[in-house]
This record gives sequence, C-alpha cells and structure tokens, in this order.
Amino acid sequence: MSIQVFGMPVSRGVAIGRAVLVASSRVDVAHYFVPADQAPHESARLDAARVAVTHEIESLKRELPADAPHELAALLDVHLMLLHDDHLVVAAKSWIMDRHYNAEWALSAQLEVLARQFDDMEDAYLRERKADVEQVVERLLREMTASAGSATERAARAHPARDFAGEDPLVLVASDLSPADMMQFKRSVFTGFVTDVGGRTSHTAIVARSLDIPAVVGAREASRLVRQDDWVVIDGDAGVVVVNPSPIVLEEYRFRQRQSELERARLNRLRHTPAITLDGQSVELLANIELPGDGAGALEAGAVGVGLFRSEFLFMNRNGDLPGEEEQFEAYRDAVLALQGLPVTIRTVDVGADKPLDRMSAQELRHEHGLNPALGLRAIRWSLAEPGMFRQQLRAILRASAYGKVRILIPMVAHLGEIRQIFDALARARQGLDEAGKAYSQVEVGAMIEIPAAAVIIDRFLEHFDFVSIGTNDLIQYTLAIDRADEAVAHLYDPWHPSVLQLLNHTIAAANRVGRSVCVCGEMAGDPTFTELLLGMGLRCFSMHPGRISAVKQRVLRADTRALAEHLPGVLAATDPEQAMARAVAARQAR
Ligand code: PEP
Ligand code: MG
Repeated sequence: MSIQVFGMPVSRGVAIGRAVLVASSRVDVAHYFVPADQAPHESARLDAARVAVTHEIESLKRELPADAPHELAALLDVHLMLLHDDHLVVAAKSWIMDRHYNAEWALSAQLEVLARQFDDMEDAYLRERKADVEQVVERLLREMTASAGSATERAARAHPARDFAGEDPLVLVASDLSPADMMQFKRSVFTGFVTDVGGRTSHTAIVARSLDIPAVVGAREASRLVRQDDWVVIDGDAGVVVVNPSPIVLEEYRFRQRQSELERARLNRLRHTPAITLDGQSVELLANIELPGDGAGALEAGAVGVGLFRSEFLFMNRNGDLPGEEEQFEAYRDAVLALQGLPVTIRTVDVGADKPLDRMSAQELRHEHGLNPALGLRAIRWSLAEPGMFRQQLRAILRASAYGKVRILIPMVAHLGEIRQIFDALARARQGLDEAGKAYSQVEVGAMIEIPAAAVIIDRFLEHFDFVSIGTNDLIQYTLAIDRADEAVAHLYDPWHPSVLQLLNHTIAAANRVGRSVCVCGEMAGDPTFTELLLGMGLRCFSMHPGRISAVKQRVLRADTRALAEHLPGVLAATDPEQAMARAVAARQAR
C-alpha cells in the first residue's frame, strides 16, 4: 500500500530509492558496499562472529557462580538460541548477497526488520524480547569491529554506490540524526534522506543540505511507517515522502527528477560568470564548508572564497578526544591551499545546542540537558571557558594564514567584555607563535551577528571587528524564541518576521555606513527567495552551501539594486510576515 508522510523540505530535488532504516544508536556502524565476488567473504565474517560470540556466551555460562540467579543462565540460553535462529544471521546474509551491504550494515538492517516485528507483537512478554535481539546484535557487531582490522583496511574494502551501476539507489530513513551522525554519511551512498525530527535550519538539516541531496526532516512518523527496503520517493521541494508509490506516481516523480537535473545542469553553466547586478554592483558569493575536503567543491561551484568554515565538525565523533594544534593546523592549511589564494573564513569552534561534540540525538540532548542548551555554554562562550583549547585553535588558524588569505570569525558574540577576552587571547596566541618562531600573516577578525543583543548595538561591535557576518539561523532562533531544531515550533520560525527583517537591515546598514564588510552566512543567504530583499538592504556578500551558488547568482544577475532599495521601506514597514513577503515579492516583480 502506498502512503504519504509530510515533513519539512530542507534540500531540493527528488530522490527515489530503497529505504535503509538506520537507528540513531547504530549510525556508527560502517555502511559500505562489497563487490559480488567478496560477498562470500563478508558472509564468512558473520559466521566467524557468530562462532566467536557463541564461545563467549558459553564460557560466560560455564563461569556463572553456583549461586547466580537462575534467570541469568536462562537469559544466556535465549541469546544462544537467537544467535542460531535463521531470522538473524541467515537473514542478514541475504542483505549481503542481494544488496551488497557489508556484514555490519546487513546485520543492523536485519535488526531493524526484527525490531519492527517485535514492536507489532500483542504479547508484552514477547515484545520485550526485542531487547535480547538487540543485545545479541550488539555482541556480534562488537566482535566484527574488533576483528575488522584498521580503519584504513576497512576503507580499502569499501565501495561507493556508483561502483554498482544498475543497483537500486538507496535513501536513508532515521528517527533522529545528530549533525555528527550526518557527517558519517557525508561521502556515503545515499541519494536522499528523511528524519522524523528536526527543523529546517537545524544543523542536521544544514549538513544534509551540504550533501546536496533531497531531504525532508520533521516527518514525524516516517521511520515507523517506512520498512526496510521499501521503495521511497523523497520530494525535497514539497517536503513529502511517498512510500511504495504506485507506478503512475513513480513515473511522475521520475519525470520531475529528470527536470530538476536539467535545471541544475542549466544553472551550473553560470558557475564561472561573475556575479554582477544589472546596475553594475559586484556581489561576492562565498561558500559554507564543514571540512577541508569541501574546499575543492566550493571552487568548482564558482565560490570566490569561503565565507564560513564550520570548524566544529573537526571536533566531532572523536569520543572526547579533541584535535590538537597540529591536526587543526593541517586541516586549516589544506582548506586554504584548496582555495588557491581566495579568502577562507574560519569560524572558531561552535559546539553546543544541537551540535554536541559526540553522537547524541536531539532527543537525548534535550533529555541530557534539562535546561535549554541553545541558551547555554555554546560557541564563543565555550571557547572562553576552555582557554587552552581556544589558544590551540587560534594558533592553528594563525599558522594556516602563512599559506593564503585567512579570516577568523567568532560565533555568538553578545557582550563587549567577550570582545576584550577574544583579542587578549589572540594577542597571546600571536606572541606564542613569535616566541616559537612560527610563521603567520595578517588576519582579519570578524564577529558573527546572530544574537539580537549584538545586532541592536552593532555600531559598538563594528568599532572592534574588521568585518561581520550575520548568522540568520541563530538570529531568527533568538529573536523569535524558537528552538531551530524543534519541529514542534518549526511553523513559527519565520525569516519574514518584521523584527528579523529590521535587525538584518539595521546590521547591514550600520556596517555599510562605516565601510566594514558585511556578509550573511545563515541559510537565508542560499535561499533565492531572499536574494533581492537582501540586495535591496545593501548586502553585497552572501555565503552559502556551494550547491546553492548558481541559483542565487541567477537572481543577482537579474537584479537592479537601486529599484530594490526603493521598495525596501515598504517591506520593512510590514506589520506581519505575510505582508512583508507579499511586498518583497511585488518589489521583485516590479522590475
Ligand atoms: C547561523 O546561525 O546562521 C550560522 C551560520 O551558524 P550556524 O548555523 O552554524 O549556527
Ligand atoms: Mg549560528
């Protein structure tokens, strides 16, 4: 039966593929393909793990003290029975044979199937046996990881999807994924993804957008309704997920998919056209990146620099082991070299809120911190609370400046007192490098304007910083008091709210007045719906995911900033978001 699930569109286009259900707790399991001739070897790994775990459980049983509760031995017997049940290991092997999944992935895919069956059971006792299956799978996974060799060896065995031309494409369906989880999928096989939770500008959605594949978040029931291996259509434009579509619906989506690929190819032709408006205003279109390896893609997309390197992604998925100065230096230097002389704006680490350092789902995060983490120790607040870590990062960024044009960007500054501490830390970092004889160049220092307090007193901030970059994702979150990761209030998250527009205009105008560079690096910059509005406000620098550059450039090329500026007062005077949007649309059409 075909069903539809509705959520929020976060990344455009249409993806059609077979569902891979991934539980958030199992995201760290390796997901890769194995060529057909290696499938027997992969199956043998499962068998070997089963033998090893059987021995482990049997020896546990033998070593049970005489006075151990009887239930314990009974539980181990249940685990032994499950290990040898065809529904687990034998069924997992069919994922290896039919879908070319690696053994760990096959096992977790089969666990998802079984977990559903247990969830649907009427009998409470039987339903609870799901936990036993999970424990057995956990033991098998642990055994396979222990005997899988080094990460490099594993990577050498991995094959991306395209090596299997003719195979069905895959889409990822999960209840909840943290940004750190999403990073695991950055260079993966999935052609689209859906999550039950999350807001449009949650960091999970942002990473998904950077993958440039169709995505829908906040689809509430999706991971419950979709079953492993179902055919799924993800409509990233409308925020709709169609499960097991009928042939007619499928054909329609295939048509739309082809159309959007053609549109993408057409826009791509603009990538090396300079972004100059009809009235001759030159506009800088920069890239937002998460890892140094994204630099090449940014250049290819026609970015004239990096406006936001979210350095915190270097700090994630490391089990608390933070990258040291040397490791960071190499990462920043690689990004700088990849940009071939174009500027790279490195933002100091911005963890906290919906970006925990380690894998933690949004739900776990909320549970873990009863207080609202978005208002807590995040971004520069965390850096200033960890002076050793902050110094290492500043030294690493400064050293990278010896290889090209580097700018430092500080997230979430709100207090003038923080500015003094930031510049003190920078002075100490420079002094340390001087004493160690390490090279560095001049770097500009900028502030992110993403807390209303900073936007309101922007004039005072501009006295201290060389440039500012407006983080609209957080600016909207904090202005409207809407947690950007919370799908329950996502309908109230509105960039068109007149208070947001006024803060934006106020900040851009103030920076332009004193001749300081001002950029927008939040998601509004990459959404063509806002291009004319921001141009009308006087913005000449936009930083966005590389995949969005051509679409925004198309708007820039057709814009007349003088005409747009004339309509701006009307938009700013709007009393509600709907009126503001209607007036902005009228202004755009009045060309
Ligand atoms: C923003 O807040 O708009 C921004 C660019 O930073 P981040 O999304 O990483 O919080
Ligand atoms: Mg931010």
